[in-house]
Amino acid sequence: MMKSLDALLAQSTFSPDDLLQLLKTEDPAECEALYAEAFRRTTAVHGNCIYFRGLIEISNVCVYDCRYCGIRKSNRAARRYTLTRAEILEAARYALAAGYGSVALQSGERSDPKFVDFIEDVCAAIHRMSVEEFGMTEGCGMTLSFGEQTPQTYERWAQAAGNRRALRYLLRIETSNQALFAHLHEGRCGAQKTWQARLRALSDLRAAGYQVGTGVMIGIPGQSLEDLVEDILTFGRLDVDMLGMGPYLVSHGGDMVSEGMMEHKALMRLTRNMLAATRLALPTVNMAAATALETLEPGARALGVLTGCNVMMPNVTPQRTRASYQLYDNKQGTESEPDSNVRLEQELVRVTGRSIARNRFGSSLHYRSRNAGLPAD
Ligand code: SF4
Repeated sequence: MMKSLDALLAQSTFSPDDLLQLLKTEDPAECEALYAEAFRRTTAVHGNCIYFRGLIEISNVCVYDCRYCGIRKSNRAARRYTLTRAEILEAARYALAAGYGSVALQSGERSDPKFVDFIEDVCAAIHRMSVEEFGMTEGCGMTLSFGEQTPQTYERWAQAAGNRRALRYLLRIETSNQALFAHLHEGRCGAQKTWQARLRALSDLRAAGYQVGTGVMIGIPGQSLEDLVEDILTFGRLDVDMLGMGPYLVSHGGDMVSEGMMEHKALMRLTRNMLAATRLALPTVNMAAATALETLEPGARALGVLTGCNVMMPNVTPQRTRASYQLYDNKQGTESEPDSNVRLEQELVRVTGRSIARNRFGSSLHYRSRNAGLPAD
């Protein structure tokens, strides 16, 4: 039976039917009421601040071939790069000097010994720098996003990152519909991704002590609203600490162009509905406002914040390589001018009324409540 939106927004727990109804919201006034409630609950649980992670896109070299991805191995048109150790440290220095408190390191996926050693070395070097140059006693927070690795690799990187209290890993499931997951990952280049391996990796990460983040793409061709409801339920079952979700955007470097994508306005509405419904269902997780929102509408990361997101990941990657990390077409919001991160901060504060948390780890309340006794950070 359909409930009124007012009745739904007064609830604190949500059945699959409730979530489906929230995702279906179309009336503009009802959408605004849904987003406002997500924002209000975020404020009530997390306070009035946004946590920043300085995003460093270390390399676009990848040995996998996910069909939706613009830097997949089969895309011969991609100009491949890997940042030097010095470039990575300089980018981290910029983020820490700006008071972001945490950096996020990501790249295409590799597991060869040279890559594992390199990541271990840069994690240790960033940790040392945060302690010695910036006086952060425990070291800065670090979010790693390097795909599926072995438990031994997770442990080595955790030790190198140095600060177990602000150690995070982001590994998206992309969709909880296993048939759709298989369709997205049936690439041409040998070994490919499996749903079982993805779940095992998330479990290994939790065992290694990371705050675990995942997420999905919203509006994938062939994805239903019921799939999105199942995604939210899956996040709950996985007991994740962080979420990063964004709209599905087609990539001409990928292998799904013929399947098209949703019209921008409808996709923006569905994305915000999904963010809001997730925030209502999972109030204590950290939720990042995706850069991909900016491709749909300039300035839309602020809309993400107004819909329940409390984390932002400004790009601090050196200018020379930013254009090459094209996971999807027309990637925006990559802060392409020197002072653009400062402008992003000012605009966020102006549009959302939030303040930027400086020199804080900003670990999710979800993680902290699972680990009673941790001091506020
Ligand atoms: S989604 Fe990740 S693993 Fe898949 S092709 Fe892109 S960078 Fe590689």
